[in-house]
Amino acid sequence: MVEINLNRRQFLKLSGATAATLAVVELGFNEKKAYASTKEFKISKSTVTPTICCYCGVGCGILVHTKDNTVVYTEGDPDNPINEGKLCSKGTTLRQLYTSEKRLTKPLYRAPGSSKWEEKDWEWMYDTIAKRVKETRDKTFVATENGMTVNKTEAIASLGGAALDNEECYLLAKMMRGLGVTYIEHQARI
Ligand code: SF4
Repeated sequence: MVEINLNRRQFLKLSGATAATLAVVELGFNEKKAYASTKEFKISKSTVTPTICCYCGVGCGILVHTKDNTVVYTEGDPDNPINEGKLCSKGTTLRQLYTSEKRLTKPLYRAPGSSKWEEKDWEWMYDTIAKRVKETRDKTFVATENGMTVNKTEAIASLGGAALDNEECYLLAKMMRGLGVTYIEHQARI
C-alpha cells in the first residue's frame, strides 16, 4: 500500500481540484475542444525586425512584428542599450505610422507660390531635387574668399533626422561636404 502524506492545506487544495475536474467532466465539458479553440497570440509566428524609433533623437530600439505582409505589433527592444525595452507614449504608438489613414504613400510636391500639393512619382522627385541642387550650387559656389580656398556654398543646408543611422549620416555628411555645403545640422541637436 502506498502512503500519501498531505498536510491540511495540501489536502484541501487537492480535494478542491478533484471536485472541479469531476464537475467539468460531469457537465460534459470537452477540455480538448476548448484548448483547440484558444485564440492564438497575435505575435505568434510573426517575423521580428529590430529598428529605431523615428520620432526623436533619443533613438530608442523597437521590435516590429510582421505577419502576412502586415505590421501586427510594435514594442520596445529589450536588447537595445538606449531604452532597454522601454518606450515613451509616442514610441508606443509607432504602429499607427503604418495603420493611419492619413499616412502619405506617395511624394507630394508644392510648386513655388502654389497653395496646392500635387502627387508626383519618385523618379520625378529625384530628378527635380538633383537638378535644383546642381543649379543652386553652380549659381552660388564660392571658390576663394580673402585669398583663401573655401570651395563652399551657403545657399544649401542639410538637416538630418533621428531615423538616420551612423552609416547614413556618414554618407550624407560626405555628400554635403563634397558639394561644399557648410550648414550641416541634425534634428537631435536642435
Ligand atoms: S520612443 Fe519616445 S523617447 Fe524613444 S526615440 Fe521614440 S519618441 Fe524618442
